Amino acid sequence: MERLQKVLAHAGVASRRHCEELIVQGKVQVNGQVVRELGTRVDPGQDRIVVNGRPIRLEQHVYLMLNKPTGVITSVSDPRGRRVVTDLLKGLKERVYPVGRLDFNTSGLLLLTNDGELANKLAHPSYEIDKVYRAWVRGVPSPDKLAKLAKGILLEDGMTAPGEARMVKKSTGNEKALLEIIIHEGRNRQVRRMCAAIGHPVLELERIRLGFLTLEGLSQGQFRPLTSDEVERLK
Ligand code: URA
Repeated sequence: MERLQKVLAHAGVASRRHCEELIVQGKVQVNGQVVRELGTRVDPGQDRIVVNGRPIRLEQHVYLMLNKPTGVITSVSDPRGRRVVTDLLKGLKERVYPVGRLDFNTSGLLLLTNDGELANKLAHPSYEIDKVYRAWVRGVPSPDKLAKLAKGILLEDGMTAPGEARMVKKSTGNEKALLEIIIHEGRNRQVRRMCAAIGHPVLELERIRLGFLTLEGLSQGQFRPLTSDEVERLK
């Protein structure tokens, strides 16, 4: 449920301020009833909203989760014609945008939506969502180095915020190790830079979880809409 003036403003009726005036002036009806109360909550997907006798046109919000393969750019277009994530969304009519980004060579969980408000909220540093990565790194980091990754590490753009880092397994000859790293920020190439900074560069990187969302049931290249429950939990 959302505030009526916000829904009207989103639908492009007028500015939020002007929409408030329209409501107070009795020019807005919800399900056939004039509504003059500012802050009335409506369900944009269900309620019939009419302004000055005309139904408003609502943009349907779409929320998707994609299991991004490597070799695809997190963008909606590429001047060099390379494959972008929205090329993978076969059959989707709405225009959606990626929330944050995964590098060309990173695979895993990527959200896409046309809900700019939620996208901004999720991308804001104050939104402390777990971003969980599995990283194959060169060599086997000592417990000391893993502790450093978790505690915070100095990168060229400052200290990283505390997170978690643990070893999942190592290869038989100890030439590489699989780490699980949890961060709450989303700086450019952050996991790669963190691992490089402890002397164990990333060989392969996958994002396996975002908060409560996992890749369960989605193979690489596949996507699915979020359920309305999932969307509510993210908000
Ligand atoms: N950290 C990285 O280094 N790359 C990504 O794609 C995501 C997080």
